[in-house]
Amino acid sequence: MRGPKRFTRVVEDFVCDKCSTTVKGTGYTNHCPSCLWSKHVDINPGDRSATCGALMEPVLIETEKQDTVITHVCIECGHKKRNKTSPVDSIEAILLVVQKQNKSRT
Ligand SMILES: [Zn+2]
Ligand SMILES: [Zn+2]
Repeated sequence: MRGPKRFTRVVEDFVCDKCSTTVKGTGYTNHCPSCLWSKHVDINPGDRSATCGALMEPVLIETEKQDTVITHVCIECGHKKRNKTSPVDSIEAILLVVQKQNKSRT
């Protein structure tokens, strides 16, 4: 720990490895708004210092108070991360994950 401020805001556009959508970076974007897949690049949010770099699958959608939270699991190392959805995220993609998680429960 080198002080409390560990969040690094990096503004960058990126191309989604999963669906090839070009994602406009806001500095807070950590997943693709059209397919919701993420990438295992951060140890601390925004620092891009994880060496894994594999895709992270959205496996679970939960609602907490006002927020919708996606749980991402790295397909390579199994690392789990929870991320809030952003207002630009595709509702259809969110519903698809919800459908999948409902199916796997029955
Ligand atoms: Zn995508
Ligand atoms: Zn990983």
